[in-house]
Amino acid sequence: MHELSIVNSIMNTLEQEFDEAKLDKLQAIYLKVGILANIEPRLLHNAFTAKHHCGTRFHHVQLHIEPTDIKIQCASCNHITTVKNYRFACEKCGRPSKNLIQGEEMLIHKVEFED
Ligand SMILES: [Zn+2]
Repeated sequence: MHELSIVNSIMNTLEQEFDEAKLDKLQAIYLKVGILANIEPRLLHNAFTAKHHCGTRFHHVQLHIEPTDIKIQCASCNHITTVKNYRFACEKCGRPSKNLIQGEEMLIHKVEFED
């Protein structure tokens, strides 16, 4: 299951980043997911809930998923365009471009801990 392995990799990253005492106070995880990342936010939520069911360590942790826009950089004029309606062309000079600089990634944007 694709989404479950994503959840596992998120938790592995956090476990490497923070010590045990800190993780006990983990409250919320904010993800940024590109619309081309091939990740369905709803399925990611389901996988997270399934893994962190009642009684497990992170079951109270909230997962927030924010979709990020597709951005391309023009090879001719270097202008960065936010792609709308899957129209992959530079808004400045009109040339087609598939030079993605954002939209395929999944990032842990922010984590929140209890005070
Ligand atoms: Zn251009």
